[in-house]
Amino acid sequence: MFYDMHTGKLVIFSAPSGAGKTSIVNGVLQRTPKLAFSVSACSRPMRPGEVNGKDYYFLSPKTFREKIDEGAFLEWEEVYPGSYYGTLRSEVERLWQAGKHVVFDVDVAGGLNIKSQFPEQALAVFVKPPSLEVLRQRLVNRNTETEESLRKRLGKAELELSYANRFDHIVVNDNLETAIREASEKVLQFIDPQ
Ligand code: 5GP
Repeated sequence: MFYDMHTGKLVIFSAPSGAGKTSIVNGVLQRTPKLAFSVSACSRPMRPGEVNGKDYYFLSPKTFREKIDEGAFLEWEEVYPGSYYGTLRSEVERLWQAGKHVVFDVDVAGGLNIKSQFPEQALAVFVKPPSLEVLRQRLVNRNTETEESLRKRLGKAELELSYANRFDHIVVNDNLETAIREASEKVLQFIDPQ
């Protein structure tokens, strides 16, 4: 059923955490009405200000594992030890049915996974921080990380940066406005080729 329905395109944004990917995704979404955001499921605790069903579908680890067993996910990853994140097939179907192209904010492994399942239908964009030091500073300023989780995220970021060249396009997030403009142009060319 998933593959028979009328389908739109898939626009994937991946980046090391703290690269500013979420701001770019939001900027691109605001400029392009035909796009809609795929709300992921995750098993980590909700942060202050987050809304269930808007930022994520917050599931208990048990429910998350049950959904894995049911085959409910298009892709899922244990992004950080003990924290599961995944794209529900039902979410993509919902947005395609609404006539939208679907935008994903997923980690690098998840992004490459979706791209490999939909090589022609998906555009995979890698958002790169100007440097690892800028990335570290952004994570510190965000103030959501403990010493321990900061170390984990930076370790993972280094590894993820080495996968950048497997993506269709790399956007360096030095200046946010410029990065949003560049990403929006690429996305528009992809969903409405001239
Ligand atoms: P955060 O905990 O900061 O919201 O997100 C951590 C990381 O999980 C980010 O890199 C984000 O892109 C990634 N992520 C969010 N949703 C998904 C998903 O559905 N699948 C995968 N593979 N990664 C996700």
